[in-house]
Amino acid sequence: MVVIEPLVGARYLSTAQWLREFDAWSPERRRSWQRERLRSVLSHAAARVPFYRRLGEAGFDPRTSPLHELPTVDKAQIRDDMGRFLSQGWERMPHLVKATGGTTGDPWRYVLDKQAWGHMYGAALHCREQVGCRYGERMVVLGSPPSLVPGGTSWKATLRSQLERRLVAAAGVEIDPVASLERARQAGKLRAALWYGYAGTLAAMADAVIDAGVHIPPPKAIISTSEMLQPAWRDRIEEAFAAPLFDEYGCNDGGVLAQTCRRGRFHVADSLSLIEVLDEGQACPPGVEGDVVVTNLHARVLPFLRYRVGDRAVAGEGPCPCGQPGTTLERVAGRQGDRVRLPDGVELSAVAFGHVFKQTPGVRRWQVVQENPTHLTVRIEGTGGFDPSQEELILSYFQERCGGVLVRITMSETIERSPAGKHKVVVVRPFPK
Ligand SMILES: [Zn+2]
Repeated sequence: MVVIEPLVGARYLSTAQWLREFDAWSPERRRSWQRERLRSVLSHAAARVPFYRRLGEAGFDPRTSPLHELPTVDKAQIRDDMGRFLSQGWERMPHLVKATGGTTGDPWRYVLDKQAWGHMYGAALHCREQVGCRYGERMVVLGSPPSLVPGGTSWKATLRSQLERRLVAAAGVEIDPVASLERARQAGKLRAALWYGYAGTLAAMADAVIDAGVHIPPPKAIISTSEMLQPAWRDRIEEAFAAPLFDEYGCNDGGVLAQTCRRGRFHVADSLSLIEVLDEGQACPPGVEGDVVVTNLHARVLPFLRYRVGDRAVAGEGPCPCGQPGTTLERVAGRQGDRVRLPDGVELSAVAFGHVFKQTPGVRRWQVVQENPTHLTVRIEGTGGFDPSQEELILSYFQERCGGVLVRITMSETIERSPAGKHKVVVVRPFPK
C-alpha cells in the first residue's frame, strides 16, 4: 500500500480497507455520509461546470434542492457537448482518460478523477474480499473484460498486475469447445483464488469441461461480468467447477458496481454512487423495470449526475434475505439499445425474455435478432437435451409477448458476438423507425 498508492496516485487499497468499516455503519450513518458527498459534488458542479452553473442561475440550489429536480443526462448529450460538462480547469485536476466501446460498438472517451477511479477499484477489491478472495491472491481473468485490460500495457498497469499477481493468461475471444477446454485447463493449473470473466466465456468453459468429463481444480470463487448471466449458465458453471458463482454488474463512467449475494440479488456499492430506477422520469416501485440512473459521489472533473447509464434494472424490495444491508437490485438487464421494438411501440429488453430459458435446460445459448419491425429470430444453441417441447415453449412465450411480430426459432444460425467476444442477447438490425 505504501509503495503502490503514491505511484498510481489513487488510494484504492486504503479505500478497500475502509469499506469494511463502511459496511458496518448503521444505515443512517451511511445515508448521511452519502448526503454529504452528494452535496459536495453538487456544489462543485454548480460552481465549476457550465451546464450546472446555468441551472444554478435558473434557481437550482445544489445545497438545498432535492436531487430529483436535477435533469437527467446521458452519454450522447455529454459527448456532443463535452465543454459544458467538464469542470473549469479540469486539465489540472488529477484524472484518467478512459475509453470504452470495444464491446458495445459505441465508442466513448471520458475523463474520470483519479480519486473516483480509486473508489471504484477499491470497491471492486472489497467485492472480491466478500467472496473470500483477499487482495494479493491470484486471480485469473477469462475473456477480455475491458475494465481489466484497459490498454493494459502501461508500466503502472504492469506493475500493478505484478504486485497483485493478477494474470490475464486465459484471455481470448474464442469460445469453441477446444479453446474453452484448454482455457479451463490453463485456469485450473494456475491455482488461482478467483476466476473473473465474461459470463459467456465461463459458460463455454463449463460446457467443455462437463462434455469432456475432466476435473479442473476449482478456485475459491468465480465472478462473472459484462454479459447477462443466464440461469442455465449459472447452473452449469457451478456444476462444472464446484465453486460458488457471483455475478457482477458495473458501469465505470457512472460509478456503479454491484455484485450478487448467495440469494441472487445485486448489492450495490453505496460508497460509489446513488442509484435510481426510473421510467418516464418517475421512480419505479420495487419489482418494476426501469432505466438505471446514477449519481457518482466522487466524480468532479466530469461529474456524472443523474446519468442514464443505458441499462435497465429492477430495484430490490425491502432488505435482502441474506442480511447484508444497503441498496439492492433484483435484476439487471442489458443495454437499452438491446431492446426489441414492437410495431405498437412497446420495447422489450432481455429481461422480458430471460425467464423462459429457466424452463428450457436444453438451451445452451440464445440470441434474439430483430431483422425488421415485424420479424424476430430466436437463435438457439442447444445441448443434446433440447427437444421439440422446449422449442414449442420458447416459441409460444415469444409470440405471447411480441404481438404483431412473426417469430421463428432456428438452431442453424451462428450466435453473433461483438469483436471483443461479448455475447449480445438481443441484436437489433438498423431499420428505419
Ligand atoms: Zn443479499
